[in-house]
Amino acid sequence: MGKALIIGAGGVASVTVHKCCQNPDVFEEICIASRTKSKCDALKEKLDGGRTKISTAQLDADNVDEIIALINEFKPDVVINLALPYQDLTIMDACLATKVHYVDTANYEPLDTAKFEYKWQWAYREKFKEAGITALLGSGFDPGVTGVFSAYALKHHFDEIHYIDILDANAGDHGHHFATNFNPEINIREITSKGRYFENGEFVETEPMEIKRVYNFPEIGEKDMYLLYHEELESLALNITGIKRIRFFMTFSEKYLTHLRVLENVGMTSIESINFEGKEIVPIQFLKTILPDPASLGPRTKGKTNIGCIFKGVKDGKEKTYYLYNVCDHEECYKEVGSQAISYTTGVPAMIGAMMIMTKKWDKAGVYNIEEFDPDPFMEELNKWGLPWKESFNPDMVD
Ligand code: NDP
Repeated sequence: MGKALIIGAGGVASVTVHKCCQNPDVFEEICIASRTKSKCDALKEKLDGGRTKISTAQLDADNVDEIIALINEFKPDVVINLALPYQDLTIMDACLATKVHYVDTANYEPLDTAKFEYKWQWAYREKFKEAGITALLGSGFDPGVTGVFSAYALKHHFDEIHYIDILDANAGDHGHHFATNFNPEINIREITSKGRYFENGEFVETEPMEIKRVYNFPEIGEKDMYLLYHEELESLALNITGIKRIRFFMTFSEKYLTHLRVLENVGMTSIESINFEGKEIVPIQFLKTILPDPASLGPRTKGKTNIGCIFKGVKDGKEKTYYLYNVCDHEECYKEVGSQAISYTTGVPAMIGAMMIMTKKWDKAGVYNIEEFDPDPFMEELNKWGLPWKESFNPDMVD
């Protein structure tokens, strides 16, 4: 069917590359391009020999001209951005200049402020529309599948959804004292920021980790979870009409939080650059270099993740609750693609999002969040590609 340019060669990209190669009818050819070419070459070596043709390239995705040159050479139908959120706008600029579709899994963030906002990417709406190309924003799990779940719940089970609680539980154990499951810099920036949730038309701010609940997750059991701000709250608050409240909770163990608190107290999570022996360094970037590489956690991680959404609303005049979730097993993921479940649950939806665009099942020009498309074909593919979903019509609610 066509060609995809995959930018980035980290944990998530590795899964997406595996999944594209399992789907050669759609992904006839892929090019893996990243800052460190050896990582792209290692992936190619592992997966070469199947029906999907693989090439690799060195690319600095902060440089628009370099991306344009690579797009002109490879001529992809879609660019799947699995680098870091800092590269979103340069890659979108290059897609615009070459009229190629764009997919990502995380919204743009300026390097110097930990702020998750769609405004920079939404500002491209008219330009993408005029160019006749699609930007699909947030095609990972959360954001990503959580938006698809919301659109599906609204389409099939509710006349109005009033409350959404997004619950992200990871019961994986990797045996390290402290490690993050995906890019440490992005992960730590996210959870040391203030919490925020949407209620009655506005966002309410909380201190970091101020709101704690305990939830008994299907197939995982009881876990402590904390309210965080997460980027899909911003788009869901606009796109799910009638919504009164949306919250996002993530599970953390006491051990993880104690380590994080100490690192924060001594200044290791700071994003302000400091002078160290005559060189400017950013503490959180230094911390990233000494923490275990998330890609190395795969072979060590045991246990499951459970990520999903609990909805409460009205159908045919009656109150109704509904829970949609996916359970993913770290060891099963590792057996299949050599990565743990966090990368897996992000990398699979990135492939499916690109597939929706390449097959034209999702076909509208402009910049859209994932819940703005028909959820049905995506839900179908989740079941086929390793992230089957389950539903409950009588879930425990979060107070
Ligand atoms: P990694 O750090 O493992 O991988 C990032 C990759 O991008 C690396 O290969 C890195 O290169 C490359 N890269 C970074 N900067 C540049 C640049 N300037 N030019 C070219 N390549 C670059 O991160 P993950 O794979 O864990 O995460 C990838 C993305 O997925 C992130 O944006 C993250 O926020 C998002 N994510 C989304 C989730 C969701 O559910 N929606 C969940 C988890 C992650 P190098 O190898 O040289 O460092």
